[in-house]
Amino acid sequence: GLSRVLGNCLHHENARIHRSINASSLLNRTWSYRFHKGRSNNISTSTDYPEFRDLPHIKTHNDLYKFSIEDPELFWSRLARSRLTWSKDFSTACKSDFSKGKFGWFEGGVLNASVNCIDRHLEKRGDEIALIWERDEPGTHRFYTYKKLSEMVGKIGNLLTNSGVKAGDRVAIYLPKSPTAIATMLACARIGAIHSVVFAGFSADALAGRINDAQAETVVTANQTIRGGKLIELKKMVDAAVSKSPCVKRVLVYYRTEAKVPMGKLDIDMTKAMVQESPNCPVVERNSEDTLFMLYTSGSTGSPKGITHSTAGYLLYTNVTFKHAFDYNVGEKFGCVADIGWITGHSYVLYGPLSNGGTTLLFESTPLYPDPGRYWEMVERLKLNHIYLAPTSLRMLLKSGDEYVKKYDRSSLRKLGCVGEPLNHEAWEWYYNVVGERRCDIIDTWWQTETGGICISPRPSEIGADIQPGMPMRPMPGIDLALFDSQGKEVKGEDVEGALCIRRPWPGMARTIYRDHDRFLKTYFQTVPDVYYTGDGAHRHKEGHYQITGRMDDVLNVSGHRLGTAEIEDVMDDHPDVAETAVVGFPHDIKGEGIYAYVVLKDGRKTKKNELDQQLRNAIKKKIGGLALPEVILFTPGLPRTRSGKIMRRILRKVASNKFDELGDTSTLSEPEIVDFIINKHKELL
Ligand code: ATP
Ligand code: MG
Repeated sequence: GLSRVLGNCLHHENARIHRSINASSLLNRTWSYRFHKGRSNNISTSTDYPEFRDLPHIKTHNDLYKFSIEDPELFWSRLARSRLTWSKDFSTACKSDFSKGKFGWFEGGVLNASVNCIDRHLEKRGDEIALIWERDEPGTHRFYTYKKLSEMVGKIGNLLTNSGVKAGDRVAIYLPKSPTAIATMLACARIGAIHSVVFAGFSADALAGRINDAQAETVVTANQTIRGGKLIELKKMVDAAVSKSPCVKRVLVYYRTEAKVPMGKLDIDMTKAMVQESPNCPVVERNSEDTLFMLYTSGSTGSPKGITHSTAGYLLYTNVTFKHAFDYNVGEKFGCVADIGWITGHSYVLYGPLSNGGTTLLFESTPLYPDPGRYWEMVERLKLNHIYLAPTSLRMLLKSGDEYVKKYDRSSLRKLGCVGEPLNHEAWEWYYNVVGERRCDIIDTWWQTETGGICISPRPSEIGADIQPGMPMRPMPGIDLALFDSQGKEVKGEDVEGALCIRRPWPGMARTIYRDHDRFLKTYFQTVPDVYYTGDGAHRHKEGHYQITGRMDDVLNVSGHRLGTAEIEDVMDDHPDVAETAVVGFPHDIKGEGIYAYVVLKDGRKTKKNELDQQLRNAIKKKIGGLALPEVILFTPGLPRTRSGKIMRRILRKVASNKFDELGDTSTLSEPEIVDFIINKHKELL
């Protein structure tokens, strides 16, 4: 399997040439920025990691990292006992069998995630704000204290139990980002049910597919939602989905708006029913390895996978990474704008922040509503200390100019996070200089639905506390990264590239693909034996820092030279007229693979298209080399995306190869019209 999957990987004889290509392009990219106050090399074991106060050899963050790799049992046991609240202590930290894809963390332990996210904070922080609901309508935010959230969770938990939901049952949640959605997820956790959140922007068919795959008997939804000022008839979509999902026995309907909707015999008016329920809901204790939730991946590379996560390991991993990747202090307002339909919304809107007793934002709107200043107006009004978003929204906002940012006071911001796709240099610079006024750290975080939490981010380290643009840089504690070549051999040393793998289990890793352990085993554990195969490629730089080069499936092989798509895109993105780009390969008679570039221009660009075409080619030639020149540059008003905003390169690849009938699973595509545009334009160019 390996040579097929990594078929495009580095050939030995080309390694030298390839390295020199990278080295020359890197010459242009040697900026680095210092970490700011509060992130020094030296660890403060009294505040950062009190668990290791008695270990004198741990003085710096790098000492801590080394310790986490050398003695994972002690490292994770201590953190688990101090950061989580248990009803029964566990016996061992980790048991693992890579060959079977079986992992067990903190076995023997008993706990409940809702207790860890709410109950244990009530005494000290009951009147503090848990949730800030930034509703779609600008300026109408609402605050929810831990006490209030606890009452909602209790009522929904009782409602679910009284409607017949039991521990282990799957509950599909198709709700807008709202306190009700968070409370429903936590209510499931409280009674031991498995939540399966489906992004409320998905179609009825996509919803039905996920309900059926999970065999969910219960669906929780809203009458309507509002996004960007537009009403969406959510309940209608659910009715259509349920007609194709015979497993569904009940539908709970939360009234987000005043509008009445037809209620059938499966439907329960949740808003009304909650009034009758007691706010005190008994806790159903869970074993460490019981499934907390399942969630489908974005579907960027194929059909979405129903990833499952455990209770104890997942909770601990999101708790620890949230605190340390963002240097979060209780009392600060954390603004992760991702929807709860994605893993980012699970780990860094809900479980990470709330298990730390933090204050978390629920952003219901879109970055462009009512105008491209929405995020920054919100930052000023709510005095957010952290913002965590996706590169795609940065590239979109940067298109609209700086005025929308500069108009608002962003002095409350301390850390600027991002996740989802490679953060290109232009977007990095804009985030750092314009949004953060050169004052805030950029925290580019690499991780996946499957990893549960952040695995690579610019955490402090003794190698140097600088942050380098365009890369997530350093593995988080406990994450043992390794690169592999097409022969399945480890690529050692520095300034090298390969398939990014994780060599040791970590608590937050996925446990299986729901009802398809074979696919789990095949996708992650069989390409390279005894490691977790991420599917992404990475470059390890001189200082040992990691840069993501793109998906392994997207790696180009031009005349025997291996090129990362991210690098070519990065060079074109730097052009002042270019908003964003996507580069893919297509079969080429002579070169083996040719390069095809899709380019989206910024609003109000000045340059003519044929001049622009030439300028882009010149830039690629200068910064990477003639080898990386595209055969085709196609200008388009947009790119096909998943609903989570990621570019669907697999579709672009099919178009470039004239395979219009083989677009594959398009159920997670957000604007199908763009694909038609691109196909027509491509045919014109032929
Ligand atoms: P599918 O697995 O269904 O194809 P997906 O991989 O897009 O979809 P997610 O789990 O949402 O689903 O995304 C994880 C992927 O996102 C990573 O494997 C990586 O390719 C990309 N990614 C996430 N963060 C970063 C980052 N900081 N830099 C570069 N790429 C990133
Ligand atoms: Mg993936």
